[in-house]
Amino acid sequence: MAHGTHFFMNPGPTNIPERILRAMDRGSIDFSGAQFKAIADECFAGLKRVFKTEGTILAYAATGHGAWEAALVNLFSPGDQLLVVESGFFSLNWGMRGEAFGLAVETLANDWRRAADPARLEARLRDDRDHRIKAVLLVHSETSTGVVHPVAELRRAIDAAGHPALFLVDTISSLASIDFRADEWGVDVVVAGSQKGLMLPAGMAFTAISAKALAASAQAKLPRVYWDWRRLMGEGSQAYWNGTAPVHFFYGLQEALRMIDEEGLDNVFARHNRLAEATRRAVRHWRQNDGPEIYALDPAAQSNTVTAVLAPEGHDADRMRQICLDRFNVSLGGGLDRLKGRVFRIGHLGDLNEPMLLGAIAAVEMALGLAGVPHRGGGVEAAMQYLAGEAA
Ligand code: PLP
Repeated sequence: MAHGTHFFMNPGPTNIPERILRAMDRGSIDFSGAQFKAIADECFAGLKRVFKTEGTILAYAATGHGAWEAALVNLFSPGDQLLVVESGFFSLNWGMRGEAFGLAVETLANDWRRAADPARLEARLRDDRDHRIKAVLLVHSETSTGVVHPVAELRRAIDAAGHPALFLVDTISSLASIDFRADEWGVDVVVAGSQKGLMLPAGMAFTAISAKALAASAQAKLPRVYWDWRRLMGEGSQAYWNGTAPVHFFYGLQEALRMIDEEGLDNVFARHNRLAEATRRAVRHWRQNDGPEIYALDPAAQSNTVTAVLAPEGHDADRMRQICLDRFNVSLGGGLDRLKGRVFRIGHLGDLNEPMLLGAIAAVEMALGLAGVPHRGGGVEAAMQYLAGEAA
């Protein structure tokens, strides 16, 4: 029997604030009426500020997987070549979906523990003299590894190679948590979901689309119906939805965007940076006694939304995670794919504050002890000292 608050520290979905839950706790309205149109207009205008784009944003009743697929089927034709910048489980998964649609997917191999190297991307694109590569696919914050990848620098690498490939970026675990600038960084399609920085339930996904990507979609031959951007855009203007619009998601999204506006996007980013840094200080402290370590090796590439923590050799990260849940009612993310059992992931994104983070870290520190994982005690104190200094 679990008492008290469930500490939900997965790197998505994330905690849904009371304000959003209350905003969704209303009756349905006619999705073809003026009242809904006003809500949707406010939402799409707010999303443009969060994506930092003047381009088109389209939404789907789907999780991030749907937005991944929407990007692929709207842009490409069978046999088209894609270059996936390897970052971890999610990058490879997106590429795999392209293969399922008959696209030729090449992976730009990369160490999962490090940020992608713009020079290597530039070199690969320079080699592609016939411009067979139609798009470069990147995950901004790779949720499986906790590594954040340099979107602006990779854009510059594409430009330096003089290559016309489209640039597709998955911001599912960065949007509204880590600075992201769709237009300034020349991103052609941004993929995002509702359940992380936007603090909503899972089930709504988005694509922001540049004019160049819209033009490319007119030539694309892959079959598409539900995801079809032409249908969603109606007569050249946004028609919002295929079928019944999920008005409750829009109620929640409207409230989420108001909350983000009230806090200010830069303050949202600063809060994520603060909580992430406190987490990292705790892990670095534990590390001192042959303890667990931050999976992302380069400090500049450690994501402000999720910290993947590598258990010392011979210790099972899932066992420690289970103790955390069973004994302390604290839920952490597990290792994905080749990292299963080797890492646990502390999500520090969305609706979170200092005491919530400290409570979770305290549970992790206790669970490390109970699981017999070596570490140096006092990580929570290190995090507290840092957070108190930031608050002073
Ligand atoms: N991309 C990234 C970076 C993710 O973190 C996730 C899910 O966690 C996905 C894609 C898949 O999104 P969804 O689970 O919403 O379908």
